[in-house]
Amino acid sequence: MSHQPVVIIGSGLAGYAVARELRKLNTEIPIIMLSADHGGFYSKPMLSNALATGKTPASILTSDAALMSSQLKITIRPFTRVKTIDQSGSSVLLENGESLSYSHLVLAVGADPIRLPLSGDAVEEVLSVNDLDDYRRFREALKDKKEIAILGAGLIGCEFANDLAIAGYQVHVIDISAHPLGRLLPEEAGKYLQDKLAAAGIRFHLKSKVQHIERVGSRYRLIFEKGQIIEADFVLSAVGLRPRTQLAETAGIYVNHGVVTNRYLQTENTNIFALGDCAEVEGKVLPFVMPISHAARALAATVSGTPTPVHYPPMPVFVKTPACPIVVSPPDPIVIGEWQIDANEDGVKALFQDMAGSLHGFALLGAATKEKNAITPQLLPILA
Ligand code: FAD
Repeated sequence: MSHQPVVIIGSGLAGYAVARELRKLNTEIPIIMLSADHGGFYSKPMLSNALATGKTPASILTSDAALMSSQLKITIRPFTRVKTIDQSGSSVLLENGESLSYSHLVLAVGADPIRLPLSGDAVEEVLSVNDLDDYRRFREALKDKKEIAILGAGLIGCEFANDLAIAGYQVHVIDISAHPLGRLLPEEAGKYLQDKLAAAGIRFHLKSKVQHIERVGSRYRLIFEKGQIIEADFVLSAVGLRPRTQLAETAGIYVNHGVVTNRYLQTENTNIFALGDCAEVEGKVLPFVMPISHAARALAATVSGTPTPVHYPPMPVFVKTPACPIVVSPPDPIVIGEWQIDANEDGVKALFQDMAGSLHGFALLGAATKEKNAITPQLLPILA
């Protein structure tokens, strides 16, 4: 094996999962992790239920970069942004002008929050939370505030809404869809969730589009496309993420929705790999924790000399809305089939079956979440 290091760009769950898996297989291989942020380790999913669980930004950080570096025996360079990748020279150029060679390069650069095209003098003050630094700003901004508006009723918007409601804030959620979790749940399940969150005090403004946000004294005024107006002390945007593909794209690496890889997590360049929120693996962008674990194990084996394709089993996601526990495994949108729904006041069990009766996805809400372990093995793997 070459003496050049494996260079990992990114210190999120994906970057650290690869470093850990590589270390398990090879204690000698030099590993350098470059991170645009502080480089410490934390579990990002904790950000959207930290108020309810009594966590602070400081207690969410599990280990700082220095501790991770000594535990994993890797070099970590925090606040070190990679500017460009030189494919032919197998090196990366840092923002400080330094160049660094690699034997293998791992892109674990995550995703950027999508910003809605809004007008108004307060648009720049709307915050998104996609990392611990954002979360620190969010918690700071919440001080002395009472009424919060959240743009987006997807997974992250609903989780933050429930967390803020538990902590005693008045919460508005605005979304263009007809029910919360519009992309993950069939209508009946979405309405059930909406009722439970409404009972927890959350006010929904659905089939609604915010167009303009302006400051009014210490508050914000949100004007909807159809003229409705609401006011809030703070506005959080949670309208989705877009894989960070720019670094790969400017280096001439093929990108589609994400950085395109095969099942070996390999881009067109056999020494450059991608995983996590930035990656599109065999056509799938899956911005969740479980795919990262599977991808990191396969990638580490490949980099250590045993080419190993990634397999994705069914990977249901728990939605952290205590007012309505949910576990969901959404069907691939290309599958033709329909939802079979069994609903009562204790919960909803929704199964998505194709024409032959094979199960392709499910949504379990309330008491039905107990059936997760029995139903999951009936699902087809996501990547066999
Ligand atoms: P990131 O954590 O975004 O890491 C990207 C890293 O790349 C960062 O360190 C960044 O600084 C670095 N970087 C970027 N560009 C450069 C550059 N040019 N040079 C150097 N460094 C660079 N998933 C679940 O499965 N279950 C959940 O319950 C769940 N809850 C969530 C709650 C919230 C609030 C959020 C935001 C996400 C949640 N997710 C959940 C999704 C999950 O957390 C992500 O899929 C995962 O953390 C992504 O990890 P990553 O390492 O790919 O990206």
